[in-house]
Amino acid sequence: QKPAPADTKVTPMMAQFIEIKTANPDSLLFYRMGDFYELFFEDAEIASRALGITLTKRGKHQGEDIPMCGVPVHAADDYLQKLIALGHRVSVCEQTEDPAEAKKRGSKSVVRRDVVRLVTPGTLTEERLLDAGANNYLMALTRLKGGSLAGDAVYGLAWIDMSTGSFQVSETDHQRLAADLAQVAPRELILADNLLQEQDVRQLAELSGGALSPVPRAFFDGSTAADRLAHYFGVKTLDGFGTFSRAELSAAAGILSYIEKTQLGERPPLDPPVREAGAGRMLIDPATRANLELSRTLSGEKQGSLLSTIDRTVTGGGSRLLASRLAGPLINVDAIQRRHDAVAFFLNNEIMREGLRQTLKGAPDMARALSRIALNRGGPRDILSIAQGLAAARAVLDQTGTTPSEIPPEIAAARSSLDQAPHELGAELVAAIKEEPPLLKRDGNFVATGYNADLDELRALRDESRKVIAKLQADYAEELGLRSLKIKHNNVLGWFIEAPTAQTEKLTADPGRFIHRQTMAGAMRFTTTELADLESKIASAGERSLAIELEIFERLSQAIIDAGDAIKAAAQGLSILDVSAALAKLAQDENYARPLVDDSRAFDIKAARHPVVEVALKKAGGESFVANDANLGPEADEDIGHIWLITGPNMAGKSTFLRQNALIAVLAQMGSFVPAASAHIGIVDRLFSRVGAADDLARGRSTFMVEMVETAAILNQAGDRSLVILDEIGRGTATFDGLSIAWATIEHLHEVNRSRALFATHYHELTALSAKLERLSNATVSVKEWNGEVIFLHEIVPGAADRSYGIQVAKLAGLPATVVERSKQVLSQLEEQDRNAPSQNLIDELPLFATLAPPPSAPAAAREADPIHEALGEFNPDDMTPREALEALYKLKGLQ
Ligand code: ADP
Repeated sequence: QKPAPADTKVTPMMAQFIEIKTANPDSLLFYRMGDFYELFFEDAEIASRALGITLTKRGKHQGEDIPMCGVPVHAADDYLQKLIALGHRVSVCEQTEDPAEAKKRGSKSVVRRDVVRLVTPGTLTEERLLDAGANNYLMALTRLKGGSLAGDAVYGLAWIDMSTGSFQVSETDHQRLAADLAQVAPRELILADNLLQEQDVRQLAELSGGALSPVPRAFFDGSTAADRLAHYFGVKTLDGFGTFSRAELSAAAGILSYIEKTQLGERPPLDPPVREAGAGRMLIDPATRANLELSRTLSGEKQGSLLSTIDRTVTGGGSRLLASRLAGPLINVDAIQRRHDAVAFFLNNEIMREGLRQTLKGAPDMARALSRIALNRGGPRDILSIAQGLAAARAVLDQTGTTPSEIPPEIAAARSSLDQAPHELGAELVAAIKEEPPLLKRDGNFVATGYNADLDELRALRDESRKVIAKLQADYAEELGLRSLKIKHNNVLGWFIEAPTAQTEKLTADPGRFIHRQTMAGAMRFTTTELADLESKIASAGERSLAIELEIFERLSQAIIDAGDAIKAAAQGLSILDVSAALAKLAQDENYARPLVDDSRAFDIKAARHPVVEVALKKAGGESFVANDANLGPEADEDIGHIWLITGPNMAGKSTFLRQNALIAVLAQMGSFVPAASAHIGIVDRLFSRVGAADDLARGRSTFMVEMVETAAILNQAGDRSLVILDEIGRGTATFDGLSIAWATIEHLHEVNRSRALFATHYHELTALSAKLERLSNATVSVKEWNGEVIFLHEIVPGAADRSYGIQVAKLAGLPATVVERSKQVLSQLEEQDRNAPSQNLIDELPLFATLAPPPSAPAAAREADPIHEALGEFNPDDMTPREALEALYKLKGLQ
């Protein structure tokens, strides 16, 4: 909205609105008017549509109606949440002075207003706007040009969870970028506007799933980045925080600039940036992450994902820590074993564990409460949260102290942070705050009785005065003989005497004593000097006690902020204990085993189950999950892994087997036990999967294209420490195209990538490859045939599937009997044909990577040779008499 030309009349308020809106163009402006936030013009149209609230009009601007809609202040959080969830940004504009002040300046002057906060998806701190169990990351992405090639560019990443203060940075390259973004899964991603304009960067950024916020390039200015960072943390040099690369500094400075812009002066209490070596985590690209349904299912829900299946944590902080561990499994053997030790400890100390979990259940979210307090958005309940959190820390410390076994380092470290928590402060907070305080500090009445003598005295006075008023009412009623006389209170008059008009004679007769205030329909209101005195006493007692409470609030808040680092460390300690205990509980409930993780190339899993499918089957109460082994490790004299080629009918359990092995690698390296009898895993540094794709129509890619893009990424990136699972490569195209691609893919994996891999396919021809490729073995899912029906045993056994049982499966699916019968006929013809031209020739003349031989004769030939088919070609039903048709049928029958 452009400012109005001078000749049109603009009300002072509208002029103010336009000025503020012009300064905040890229967000919806919540403009405070009394008890409402109002939105105008286009903002109103957007918000009314998004929120389903009525669009009205208010006045005119340049001759046109001004669209308007509003949300009540007390319910604003809900509306904000909805808008933010839809990816909008909201500027909250408050009245910054008392309307009475504005009146003093003149009848026309408008109340001063100012934007006090810019709410964006990545900068939320309110409990109600956040998911307790999920981190809410704001992330910044920047790029520095490296060498002469475009591919040499390095990317800097910085991410912050403002609700807890965590702050991490890392550096990455183009190839890893998508995986790194997916690991963090930011709610909001900020990047320089010029960078966002580049097609491929934009695509990657969109893939991260966060709302994209372009910012001026200057935010990332490298030359001043270190100074800006040092300034934010109030230090002279960053040396104490460790060393950072140029790209990391630039990203960190960019994210701080954005925070300063959106928080308008308030400073969230951030931890100093920690360098997260991207290379310290298992690389899981976005497609793999999605396919394996680590934290969300393919349809986008949490329920049914691996995370929701294994999450037994009882606190918000624990749930967030578990999610971030699952998102970034480790590749350092020692660190992984430390986590396993912690889980083992709680598995062995069940009574301690359950006691701990009971205590943690009641523990509030200290990290988030602390953030709100430091941002000046805290209330009495946040102080209470810190008080109760510290009390829980104390209790947990005692609960985990006495143990017959040695306490492992991970738990010892967590305990020591609990030990160093500010327990004295905690005790003071417990004493200071009432048990169920009001939400807002301005309502007062949150400081506990007995904490402050002055406050107690004022409160007594207030209560006393109430008693005095009750007595006064009784006295007046008695004296005047008026039983209906009452002393009441409202916000306009304060305290007053009220009597029915018909009975006020005695009062009006003594105007010196009973001062008339108001005449109502059936009653009159008066006051007296006595009452006025009492009133001012009560009011000032109320004011003074609120002032004392606010002073106490400020003092306690400051003490909390001063102890912020120790409180945060204690919160983190509680989260670590929660996660370790939860994983132990999981291991016990679901019968998981401790995996052995080392630096070998082993991948030897015995009696493994799919963690999610297993639970689903259990719930359904039908058949139970059939456990299966997998061994992709090198043999004695080798140092590279093997490939298993798995054939078997649809529905036999191939995909389930593939996924369960990938999930077990993820679980083991995130520090969990695994659903298997035993597992020996040599560190997997990158995990790739290509499993059943859906069309990515939004980006204009067919199933086949998606599949090939993902396969290309794997063949280009997988190495000898990677684990690769490939399901049904080549399904999306004509048979021989698909077979050829699958064939060449296996050869490449075996010879070039040399990764440990599981490859499921319906191309039986591929099993012949095992003759040529020494580290390739065939496996199949066993099936029983009984009375022409197929029974899936879900058991993985060595060897190749003899048949695909596609027709039996189709029959199970309810295909019409005629179609099933006809398919059987066609199949036997095709098989006949195939025997005459086996794919053996492909194997015999196979020099690796030479051009593949032309495919065996096409199946179309089989159709030609079919006499029934030939006969059918001769008939033309439209020209036949009924008799001819009957004869034709007999002829066909004869050919059968
Ligand atoms: P495929 O990939 O061979 O078509 P799936 O892996 O999709 O088969 O498995 C089909 C269904 O069979 C699954 O939904 C699951 O319910 C069941 N299933 C798979 N593996 C097992 C198993 N090991 N034990 C029990 N049921 C299984």
